[in-house]
Formats: sequence, C-alpha cells, structure tokens
Amino acid sequence: MKLSEYGVFNAAGAGKGRRKAGEAAKKEIRVAGKTENDVYRVLGLPYIPPEIREDSGEIEAAQAGTLPELVEIEDIRGDLHCHSSYSDGAATLAEVAAGGKKRGYSYILVTDHSRSLHIANGLSPERLRRQLAEIDSINAKLKGFKLLKGSEVDILPDGSLDMDEALLARLDVVYVAIHSKFKMGRDAMTKRVIRAMENPHANVLAHPTGRLIGVRDAFEIDMQEVIRAAARTGTAIEINAHPARLDLDAATCRAAAAAGVMIGIGTDTHVLSELDYMLYGIGTARRGWLTKANILNTRTARELLSLLRKEPK
Ligand SMILES: [Zn+2]
Ligand SMILES: [Zn+2]
Repeated sequence: MKLSEYGVFNAAGAGKGRRKAGEAAKKEIRVAGKTENDVYRVLGLPYIPPEIREDSGEIEAAQAGTLPELVEIEDIRGDLHCHSSYSDGAATLAEVAAGGKKRGYSYILVTDHSRSLHIANGLSPERLRRQLAEIDSINAKLKGFKLLKGSEVDILPDGSLDMDEALLARLDVVYVAIHSKFKMGRDAMTKRVIRAMENPHANVLAHPTGRLIGVRDAFEIDMQEVIRAAARTGTAIEINAHPARLDLDAATCRAAAAAGVMIGIGTDTHVLSELDYMLYGIGTARRGWLTKANILNTRTARELLSLLRKEPK
C-alpha cells in the first residue's frame, strides 16, 4: 500500500508487467483516508487513540489486542482538588457545591490550604473546624451531591504534616503537598515526600513534581521511589489538571498504574470556571494509558473513601 496526504492506496498490481508506451499508469485505488478508523482497518489494527500514538508500544498492544480502554471525561464523578474562599479560592462553599452539581458531579473534595501556607490564607485549626461545620450544613440541604471534607496539607521540610492528628482524623480525604523549600536536593526531597506518604492519614500526594509551567521547573525528586512508596503505603498520586501544572507525565502515569497506585485527577480550582480543566487531566491520564479502573474519581464517594482507607501502621 501507499500512503500520501490523500489517503491509503492499494498499489498492488502497479508496476507488474511492462507498461506499453503511452499507456497510463495502473490506477491506484484509495482504500482508506476518509476517517482514521478506515486507516487502521485496512492495516488490520483496532483504532489507536491519538493520545497514545507515541511509538511506545501501542502498535504491539493493538496487534495483540491488549490496547487499554482509556478513561473518558464521562467516567468522572467528581473533582478532587478545589479551593474555596476559606483559603485562596474565589467561590464560597455553597458556590462550589452548586458548581459541582451543575456539572453533573456527585461530589467535590474541598482542599483548602493548611495553616503554614500564609500566602494562600491557609486555615488555622479553628477556621478548618468552622469549615467542616459549614460543609455539614450545606450537605444536609443537598440531594445527590456532597462536598467531601479535605485539606491540601503542607508537607513541612522534615516530611511531617502541617496539621494535628485529631484534625487529620476528621477529614474524608487528606491531600499532602509541597509548597515550600523546593530546592533541597533530590535525595532529601524524595525522603521528605515519602515520610509524608507514610503518615497513615495522608491519602493523596498532590502535584508531585511541583512544576508551574512558565514559572518554575519541577523540583528534583525520584518519582520511581515515590511510586514504590505510594504502592507500599496505599497512597494515591494526583494528576493535577491545572494547565499550569499537568503533572504527571505519561511515563510516570504508566509506572504508577503498573505498580498498582491509584491516581486522583483534580483541577486545583481557585475560580469556579476552572472546574472545566478536568478535560486536561483526562488528556494527561489518557496519554499515560490510564483506564477508568486506575482513577479514584471514577468511583462513587463511598467507593472512593473505602479505596483510600489505609491500614494502621
Ligand atoms: Zn498545591
Ligand atoms: Zn491546590
């Protein structure tokens, strides 16, 4: 067959025998080109989604019939990373709930910052307790939708968490994240993050590389070690869907899934319209060959909470 910008042509027979002077070249027949599906069909392959056309094993998987069924935006039941006006978000809790409901979600995890992150108006223990009470009263009025109680807790330089045990225990889901002291070197940073994941209350490691595209490079960290620790401790890892972040990369997604680590997709919403960033998180997950089964927030709230339960250590 011959491939050009006009399609795939069956050139079989062309060139056979000697062409007489003046005779037109044998007519090539276009066998595919109208749709991508047609192109794969004539090659004897199932359709390969664009996100994984990277020559990283997808042809072999297609031939073997083992292509992953990539997660779709419709599979997502809720957002796992959202800030409210309690910390540095623009929307009130009631507005966050209304925004999630409008998108057809059944939950949004509220993940405001913890006390040390002054720059982002991190919550003191007292303000967090007030927030939890307000979430209860909002949830009591809602049907078919729930705000889940969370926090994006700072990982302090020594790897401990910026929140007391008693408060951590009151949260549905605890995100842990690096927001300070980015330049401590690869080994120290890896140990710091692993120590945080070893905390029995830590459920999800947020934006693991810390990069802000156009602002700040990823900090140095051994993601393979982090993935091993995540698998060992039952901690999930985040795909941060915010276009300024978009970690994890495809290779890290695949390594995490292979190790049995669950992935949470969160938009890191600070202004409600950013809930739409979920699409970029899905794109990132699809590039990383992830299926519905790999993703936390394709589950109901109840399934999600039971998946995140850690064994006491
Ligand atoms: Zn953060
Ligand atoms: Zn955040």
